Amino acid sequence: MTNQNIFQERRKRFLDLLGGNAAIIPAANMVTHHADCDFAFRQDSDFWYLTGFDEPDAVALFLPYRPEGEQYVLFVLPKEPSIEVWNGFRWGVEGALNTFAVDIAHSLDQFSQLLGPYLEGAEGISFRIGRHLKIETIVLNTWAEKLDIAPRKGSAPYALIPPCLFLHNLRLRKDSWEVQRMREAARITSKAHELARHITRPGMREKEVQAAIENYFLQNGARGAAYGSIVASGDNACILHYTSNNSVMKDGDLLLIDAGCSLDDYYNGDVTRTFPINGRFTSEQRALYDIVLSAQKTAIENVVAGNDTENVHLSAVRVLIEGLIELALLKGSVDEILETGSYTHLYMHRTGHWLGLDVHDVGAYRLGDYQVSLEPGMILTVEPGIYISDRLSIPEGQPVIDERWKGIGIRIEDDVLVTNSSPDVLSDEALKSAKEMER
Ligand code: CA
Repeated sequence: MTNQNIFQERRKRFLDLLGGNAAIIPAANMVTHHADCDFAFRQDSDFWYLTGFDEPDAVALFLPYRPEGEQYVLFVLPKEPSIEVWNGFRWGVEGALNTFAVDIAHSLDQFSQLLGPYLEGAEGISFRIGRHLKIETIVLNTWAEKLDIAPRKGSAPYALIPPCLFLHNLRLRKDSWEVQRMREAARITSKAHELARHITRPGMREKEVQAAIENYFLQNGARGAAYGSIVASGDNACILHYTSNNSVMKDGDLLLIDAGCSLDDYYNGDVTRTFPINGRFTSEQRALYDIVLSAQKTAIENVVAGNDTENVHLSAVRVLIEGLIELALLKGSVDEILETGSYTHLYMHRTGHWLGLDVHDVGAYRLGDYQVSLEPGMILTVEPGIYISDRLSIPEGQPVIDERWKGIGIRIEDDVLVTNSSPDVLSDEALKSAKEMER
């Protein structure tokens, strides 16, 4: 179990940021897969970040306006042996108090009754609407009651504020403990990609490679895959969220694998590699691979403090466009193609996203017209690609694409930590030079 001091430190910073506002942060609920079978439990990342408590249905209150020792309140499912025998251990009220450094713990069934009194003295309520419907009804009813009596009482929590304004700035900047965990997630993920390349042969099914990767995650201490693994051979690689993984891999095609593990404490890796299934690039594949790798290296060099994600993206796009002009797959000047977006039939996504407890992690990329500056401790993916298929129409003025290029989809993705000096590629144990992709 993660050291509670880490969560205590986060709660302290969160409480400071809240000012006079109360925060209500619910845990995730179990989600039905089919009939009466549930998906594996996945804790809500905001809730986990602040509590380290890995049970469903709980609700955490943060009450900075109350005296010390009453500021962190947790509502939990009560101990119930007749349910635990089916669904597993619960910490219960006592366990929450003794093990999770909670100031006050209650059974969940007291939530609707106790929320009102706990909000007494709050200037506002920080709660995310639209995500936790059962809790939301109680929160809104309680809030409405407070507003009803405000004229006579003289005060109420007048504002409803999303907690992201306080919390997601914290989550965006990873502390040294989180960096260590992210490095571990990236390391296991990278090793799994190495394994996948070594076992891949023509005639195997994509699913066999998926099985090997996810087996490696589980055997090496991860909770499992962070997201649906993409194991996409040939033209399947041009489907960005291809997860059916049910094709037989053909001699002469490339295999694109986008997969990452999630650790027990939910930190995620997110890595993509693309390599020839038979161990040798064709000249077309190699030409495109070199462009994508060059774009990725350029973009990574730009992951430095003071820069921003828009510039990182644009630096990759420029290299992609230059390379594609050279291969006569695009026509015109780099600036003009960039300006008109007439490359987006070949590269249609952004070059990266924040990475952390969520795979597409929280935190703003821009605030109005202002691009958020990269700071040490931020972690993002860098993942340019080229995808050539018939699915999107060719923009006006751009050349028709010869058949020999079609069915090639390439992406190269690493997880990169912003530091005070050069970018730190957490996933660098997954090789990526063209030579290393061959055998
Ligand atoms: Ca990915």
